[in-house]
Amino acid sequence: MSDRRRFVKFSLLSGAAVLAGKNLFAKTDKGDRKYDVVKDQPIVISTWDFGKVANAAAWTVLKKGGRAVDAVEEGVKVPEADPKNQSVGLGGRPDRDGRVTLDACIMDENYKCGSVAALEHVVHAISVARLVMEKTPHVMLVGDGATQFALENGFKKENLLTPKSEEEWKEWLKTSKYEPKKNIENMMPGGKDNHDTIGMVAMDKNGNMGGACTTSGMAYKMHGRVGDSPIIGAGLYVDNEIGAATSTGVGEEVIRIVGSHLVVELMRQGLEPEDACKRAVERIIARNPEKAKEVQVGFLALNKNGAYGAYALQKGFSYAVKNGNVEDVFFAKYFYDDGK
Ligand code: ASP
Repeated sequence: MSDRRRFVKFSLLSGAAVLAGKNLFAKTDKGDRKYDVVKDQPIVISTWDFGKVANAAAWTVLKKGGRAVDAVEEGVKVPEADPKNQSVGLGGRPDRDGRVTLDACIMDENYKCGSVAALEHVVHAISVARLVMEKTPHVMLVGDGATQFALENGFKKENLLTPKSEEEWKEWLKTSKYEPKKNIENMMPGGKDNHDTIGMVAMDKNGNMGGACTTSGMAYKMHGRVGDSPIIGAGLYVDNEIGAATSTGVGEEVIRIVGSHLVVELMRQGLEPEDACKRAVERIIARNPEKAKEVQVGFLALNKNGAYGAYALQKGFSYAVKNGNVEDVFFAKYFYDDGK
């Protein structure tokens, strides 16, 4: 971690406050937080270091005054198409049977959402999720049905298993040890991470929000396993009155607490984004303290003031921010320091 990042980690909240300008919160008659929307201050935030290039793609839409939902779709397509990114889209690590199966979801400012799970042979899972949202009466398509829907709608059938991911999978087969643990863990050949996901949330010029989340899921998962990433409310939630949140890490722990929805509801109760993410992390710990020490989960949130924050179970969760003032990657605060 660079010194700059270390510094930013501790000064993030104040930065977000400066961005937000003044306190624009007011109570509704139901006691919920209500926001006066900050306009003309688009912002996009996303998980992990590779979020930076994805944010840049999203920004090309936001800076032209485009919709947040269009921006996040454009943004997450970048890691989906990158064969070097082994946790999303093309080149994603396969399941234990050697099949690359993708999970993704998207949500707009009108509570419209679409999702695909266990999608195969199609690079841009997020665009298939978008089409489920736009063109079907459903929210979620899975497995063969999702793949069939994509191919019928003109998506190209491709082999997503790159030689590198195939080689690593074959190496993994020698021991077949499957223990989804922390993001920095000596589980993969060469001691690499076995998971990551891009979750991205944005607010556009008009103060409308959108979010997208896409992943190849946990490496070497059971065939058919679905994580949090395509589950609306778990891996992603967007509430245009309040804010948006997304997650990464061991999806099972996120699903158990319906994590992203929880973060948004905590913001509705008045918490700042980072505090809301922290409370969700603490909920995971409270539900299963032993497990929580061993796994990584990170949350990321953006509220209608344009304030943002993140929090993780373990050290090492980074996230990327782009707005009119900031374009950088930060480390989130975390609960455990290497499990100690
Ligand atoms: N959340 C993803 C899943 O459980 C993986 C990750 O973010 O690392 O499939």
